[in-house]
Amino acid sequence: VDQTATPATEIVVDDDKCIGSGACVLASPTVFDQNDEGIVVVLRPRPEAHEMDSVKAAVRACPASVIALTGQ
Ligand code: SF4
Repeated sequence: VDQTATPATEIVVDDDKCIGSGACVLASPTVFDQNDEGIVVVLRPRPEAHEMDSVKAAVRACPASVIALTGQ
């Protein structure tokens, strides 16, 4: 992947505020997971291009609005 042309998108989560709903995992299961307490775990902070639609869906779906994208 050529990351020199445009900044790579990176997922940043404020996991202190995650309420463990799991909506992000439902929306984008290859990128998000939950730990034993149900708190979000980002499996792939720099998702592939083909995963971005699902990542954006996860951002919208998160009821606590704790998922952000940088480098957009
Ligand atoms: S959707 Fe938001 S609140 Fe729910 S598990 Fe994912 S990051 Fe946490």
